[in-house]
Amino acid sequence: LEWLYSYMIRLRIPGGLITPEQWAGLHHIAGEYSTGTIKITTRQTVQLHGLLKSQTKPTIQSFNTLHLDSIAACGDVNRNVTCTSHPSESPLHGKVHALAAKISELCLPKTTAYYEIWLDEEQIEEKKNPEDPLYQNRYLPRKLKIGIAIPPNNDVDVFINDIAIIAIIQDGELKGYNIGAGGGLGATHGNAATYPRLASVFGFLDTEEKVLKAVYEIITVQRDYGNRSDRKLSRLKYTIDRLGISEYKRLVEERSGFQFEEAEPYEFTQRKDRYGWEQNHEGKWYFTLFVESGRVLDENGYALKSGLLKVAETGKANFRFTCNQNLILADILPEHKTEVEEILHEHGIINYTDISSAMRKNSIACVAFNTCSLALAEAQRYLPSLITNIEPILEKYGLQQDDITIRMTGCPNGCGRSPNAEIGLIGTAYGKYNLHIGGDRLGMRLNTKYKDSLEEAQILETLDVLFSDYVKDKLPHETFGDFTYRTIVNHLN
Ligand code: SF4
Repeated sequence: LEWLYSYMIRLRIPGGLITPEQWAGLHHIAGEYSTGTIKITTRQTVQLHGLLKSQTKPTIQSFNTLHLDSIAACGDVNRNVTCTSHPSESPLHGKVHALAAKISELCLPKTTAYYEIWLDEEQIEEKKNPEDPLYQNRYLPRKLKIGIAIPPNNDVDVFINDIAIIAIIQDGELKGYNIGAGGGLGATHGNAATYPRLASVFGFLDTEEKVLKAVYEIITVQRDYGNRSDRKLSRLKYTIDRLGISEYKRLVEERSGFQFEEAEPYEFTQRKDRYGWEQNHEGKWYFTLFVESGRVLDENGYALKSGLLKVAETGKANFRFTCNQNLILADILPEHKTEVEEILHEHGIINYTDISSAMRKNSIACVAFNTCSLALAEAQRYLPSLITNIEPILEKYGLQQDDITIRMTGCPNGCGRSPNAEIGLIGTAYGKYNLHIGGDRLGMRLNTKYKDSLEEAQILETLDVLFSDYVKDKLPHETFGDFTYRTIVNHLN
């Protein structure tokens, strides 16, 4: 007999795009091997939880038949490369999306162990120790994340990545990319040496070749200079702060053989997903669907998972994940829109987009209890009901349609990006959360801890006061995050 160890499996899906056949396969694999819930993560991919040890190999083999894999979805390597989701943002989206896939390929570890262990491939002598110039014989000191944003949308929260890439589009043309490094949101309670940080921009590069080279060398500098003696201080953000931004940049330039040009101007005007139907420049339709906390399941009479399977079975929509844990039914031809729409209606999915508050639409929660072993408190199972209790307060102050961002994580690791929300709740113990405020709406400024270890009644009481002050004293067009930053955070230190 074997212990009932259970695992989580995460897929590698650069840019977050899968076919309807892959979604249908994923649906059945989730039902057969895991808890059944498909969790859309904040990095544009999906996770299955509750996988028993004996089911791990069949699960990976089933994914392989769908041309899906889990290579480098965890570990001290480059993780899933994220990219602005909505194709209607720009006719150049496809080009930028292809860059995400190229970066993902470039940064894959060369070992064939995954195929040998999980897919029973024969170990070929000359492939036993394939040369891996990027990771060599030591991988990275810690995980590494890369995100690509296409302004004006910062839906990927680009600055939270170890490597932040911003497409520069001028007069409808892709001119190149601004590149930054040093983002990361994780911290440890009680360890002041750890902190969240946003990426610092190094400069602009005008060709894809240069971007690929610079990304590669940013990684090699982290590989060679990163802290390998203390995992808590091993992310790239600590290396960049230890070396200094200009020294890190100089090392990258020296290794790349070219210099960064001065960063080009760009503007982010939103970070949220745009729910409902939109048509792109080619006439194809996209339906962006709110998936609360990224959990796809049939629950409380809402047949989300069954409805999405029906859509997948038509073969008429691709499935694209967003970094806000939502789903876009994508690339639907005009002649197929009605059929997809009817399925969404039949399953109540269209009606469900009529969400009770803008705050709920702008909420993110990590997995936390009961499947994340690092959790100190609930997140995805609790945030929806907390928002239900916040909503009467929003209503009292006429803020139901105010796009205030709220994010909850079960620990300070930041998987749900709580440190750069306007309201961040970070678990400290069961039922208790640090309350952070003062983050901006576009992902350009981190929030700051305001209150320690609050229980729900205290959270509601505190928000009541903050919302009351906000509606009384805000400047014209001032967001909640900017208001609390100006009136409170600015005076905390
Ligand atoms: Fe787990 Fe913490 Fe990440 Fe939440 S933020 S999923 S609790 S590690």
